[in-house]
Amino acid sequence: MEHGITKNLRFLLDCVLGLIYCGDERCILCKKDIYDDRTICKDCESNIKICKDSFEIGYDDKKFQCYSSAYYSGAMMELIIKLKYKSSFKAGDVIAKCMRDIIANNHIDFDVFTYVPMTKKALKKRGYNQAEYLANSLGSYTNKPVICCLQKIKETKDQIGLDKTERWSNMSQSFQVRNKKSIKNKKILLIDDVLTTGATAFACCAELLKNGAKKINVLTGAKSRV
Ligand SMILES: [Zn+2]
Repeated sequence: MEHGITKNLRFLLDCVLGLIYCGDERCILCKKDIYDDRTICKDCESNIKICKDSFEIGYDDKKFQCYSSAYYSGAMMELIIKLKYKSSFKAGDVIAKCMRDIIANNHIDFDVFTYVPMTKKALKKRGYNQAEYLANSLGSYTNKPVICCLQKIKETKDQIGLDKTERWSNMSQSFQVRNKKSIKNKKILLIDDVLTTGATAFACCAELLKNGAKKINVLTGAKSRV
């Protein structure tokens, strides 16, 4: 049997230890202890290769300005994989923070956000759309609305063995605008997690432009070097 005093002291000690360790967080990437409100540690953060330059995606006579917050490598690649395949919304918030910096640093001018949609089947399987998550996170910080105006009507066929023209025209029939009114004369910032060939983003942009949008820019969390 413990004495009353010892018991009280133990209780007090537990409270103090609780206070010290409760706020204790670990980096979601390397699991190192973090003592502030960061989600990833400074070392992992410095491992993100920022993509400073904007670039164009184009085909036929249409061209769209694109921005990515980082290259798809190192810590950013791990964050994207966590968001996309492991439901880590904390990873999504770190990516969205990088994307917010790109919007501010480049003074990107737009009225509304939208995002690259998934097919109903793919959405049901994953349970969420990572591009939509990023768009909503950006929307809540920038006070710009997020509109759901695109739908993916068919799964993209295997692109292997197709040349650029075939690949891009294959993709162009995959997306459809579902609410023309919401995009009329709007400057849209299209959000996606990763840009690879650019064919997906281009197909969405072309569809938005065809249906009355005024201007479309693209912003992705990462850009894959292919
Ligand atoms: Zn770390």
